[in-house]
Amino acid sequence: MLIVKKFGGTSVANKERIFNVAKRCIEDYQAGNQVVVVLSAMGKQTDVLLDMAKDINPKASRREMDMLLTTGEQTSVALMAMAMDSLGVPAVSLNAFQVAMHSTADYSNAKLKRIDTERIYNELENRKIVVITGFQGIDKYDNYTTLGRGGSDTTAVALAAALHADACEIYTDVDGVYTADPRVVPKARKLEAITYDEMLELASLGAGVLHNRSVEMAKKYGVQLVVRSSLNRNEGTIVKEDTKMEKMLVSGVATDKNVVQISVEGLENKPGVAFKLFQHLANHNVNVDMILQSVEHGGKQDISFTVTEEDAEEAINTLDRHKESSLKCDKTTVTRDVAKVSVVGAGMMTHPGVAAKMFEALYDCGVNIRQISTSEIRVTVLVDEKYVEDAAEAIHDKFSLEK
Ligand code: ASP
Ligand code: MG
Repeated sequence: MLIVKKFGGTSVANKERIFNVAKRCIEDYQAGNQVVVVLSAMGKQTDVLLDMAKDINPKASRREMDMLLTTGEQTSVALMAMAMDSLGVPAVSLNAFQVAMHSTADYSNAKLKRIDTERIYNELENRKIVVITGFQGIDKYDNYTTLGRGGSDTTAVALAAALHADACEIYTDVDGVYTADPRVVPKARKLEAITYDEMLELASLGAGVLHNRSVEMAKKYGVQLVVRSSLNRNEGTIVKEDTKMEKMLVSGVATDKNVVQISVEGLENKPGVAFKLFQHLANHNVNVDMILQSVEHGGKQDISFTVTEEDAEEAINTLDRHKESSLKCDKTTVTRDVAKVSVVGAGMMTHPGVAAKMFEALYDCGVNIRQISTSEIRVTVLVDEKYVEDAAEAIHDKFSLEK
């Protein structure tokens, strides 16, 4: 078997952890498998590098930022190959340039386009463990790029797809994917399996276990993933197309506090108003999430939407700039202490009543809903941030997710 194993920063944070990972990879190697290892930077090294850059030049170019950040992964792969060698197993570390992992040229947010497999196959044929840098690529002029924070997961999935790997294992510091964040809902339970679509909803809702694009790519190329802990031997969570094992109405409850609600009040009620509003925001690269338009009152209407905290300033400035000239609204209000709570489940597509049940749980614990949005397999409500734990727990209980 050809196995791709990806280990996150906490799994290689120090000498002891590096040897722990080396040994786990060697077990697979000695069982006769071909082993490709993808690593993140050690511990919080990426943050350390970001701070160093900020100290030298807060306006550093994105090209130099990527040149700097890619050193984090280069450090961990070299040390890992050394650790394996010291345990008597031949290993070779390779970076994005040496493999040739071609990406777009969008520094700090590049997309992998193509991976040359020849060098990797050659090293595997020579019975080496191949240890590859996550998170990085090279553009067509051989500049280093990075794939966005958490991007090593995407490197691993891309390699698994390119190499037609038999397994792709993502090792992290939690046991797998849970029915809720255990820090928010202590009764949360680990799932045996989850579909790509559910995982995508959960990833974008801030569950944080997998890089969003890695799940998109896994779905596109049919790469089955296992998410599990590097710190114990527990079975992880399988991420795949259709989970027959656990056909559940609702798989999980996600919470996200990184939300700001912005309301634009007293807009004219005529065609083109929403277009203008969201065009201004799009022009300034503001990502808008939930949108709510009120019914008409006195010839006017209000539109509320949510953005992340990082985008809030830009959104507010943009609205201020266009308030009088183009939008002609009465006022804008900003509410920062709000949070999203969502239920996600592939079973929702075929079973009615999920939203009602969720709202009943919120009613039971006296939590008011500010805004609602849905997808085929998700219902999200916006609530006051101080209620987010209560709300998540009540919903988790209502759907008996703890089992
Ligand atoms: N080291 C990078 C980061 O911290 C990539 C990763 O860990 O996946 O974002
Ligand atoms: Mg990660």
